[in-house]
Amino acid sequence: MNLVKLRKFTYEEVTRCNRCGFCLPSCPIYLVKGIESATPRGRNAITRAVIEGRLQWSGEVEKSIFSCLGCGACTANCFPAIKTRDIVFRDRECLVSEGIYPKIADRLAQYILEEGNISNENNEERAEWQELIKGIPEHYFEKEKADVIYFVGCVASFFPLAQKIPASMAMVMEKAGVDFTVLGGQEWCCGYPLIGAGMPDKMDALIKHNVEVVERIGATKVVFTCPSCYHTWKHFYPSGAEYLSASEFLVELLREGNLELKPLDVKVTYHDPCDLGRNTGVYEPPRKVLSSIPGVELVEMEKNRQLTTCCGGGGNLEMVEPELSGKVADLKIAEIQATGADVVVSSCQQCLRTIAGRARRRKIPLIVKDITELLAEAMV
Ligand code: SF4
Ligand code: SF4
Repeated sequence: MNLVKLRKFTYEEVTRCNRCGFCLPSCPIYLVKGIESATPRGRNAITRAVIEGRLQWSGEVEKSIFSCLGCGACTANCFPAIKTRDIVFRDRECLVSEGIYPKIADRLAQYILEEGNISNENNEERAEWQELIKGIPEHYFEKEKADVIYFVGCVASFFPLAQKIPASMAMVMEKAGVDFTVLGGQEWCCGYPLIGAGMPDKMDALIKHNVEVVERIGATKVVFTCPSCYHTWKHFYPSGAEYLSASEFLVELLREGNLELKPLDVKVTYHDPCDLGRNTGVYEPPRKVLSSIPGVELVEMEKNRQLTTCCGGGGNLEMVEPELSGKVADLKIAEIQATGADVVVSSCQQCLRTIAGRARRRKIPLIVKDITELLAEAMV
């Protein structure tokens, strides 16, 4: 989008902010930092002042704009529903065009565009997680043609803590008799991290490649365990095949009676990932999956669904300010502990990595599982 248009859309949105402050208690960054420039209201005021010429883009503005999680909690708590997340992401584009942004984002963009993933790994090793499943040959889940494509995502492909997610999802689909494939080295990053980095204009080649692969395989459905990939495909990719989050797809499998489940005697709480819930509107399918497992008791956190607190892993914050991201994770962990649940379940590899990683660092005994993992445990 050209920057003049970008500013016009943004200006129309920020001028709707009446500065009431109702959004403040919902913003995890404000709750940690306690300063006005870290509030949604503050970010909107900064943006308005820059557009009106009362303030210049600067390092201080950069700090405020790049310390947002993009979680959307502010909008859910705002009467006029100001889209601060969108404003912030557009501001990041403007800051990038001015050369004022965290330069670590250049490295991220380079990895994504040159290697096809966020970690600068050999993209051919994307299917390494298949080694977690005993007794299957290499590349077992990669096929030339299939009805369903399982798009794994960078974090679950390359971060050991999250690799159990694709292993569980693949086992569940295999057991249910789904005709599916994973893409291995042919899967490229969906481009989501570039949106958070203020560089969405660099996504085109990624979108073109991934869409071509789906067309070549002839799939009618693409399924995602990563809510950010799902969100990106839903909102930025051309329509074609049907795009489904893992839990929506699992509900279909359960409804068709394709999975036999044994009881698990466990009390769980469910963490709504921002990109799956608030940012894409999927709240009930994961809860339906949980309620389909006999013996699972679900206790909700005080803030759930639209009001959920981000885990701290959103908006590229972990890359820019890791300690701030960790402190947001502390808020989330406290909410989880208040439920008295044995296990916190989520539907996102980044949430799992952020919450489990922080709990481990702080030596907090917290069991964090993905919904696919819990379902795989319950399979007969
Ligand atoms: S963003 Fe919404 S809730 Fe926050 S100050 Fe503005 S109008 Fe009020
Ligand atoms: S999107 Fe999240 S982190 Fe950003 S201003 Fe809104 S509540 Fe705060």
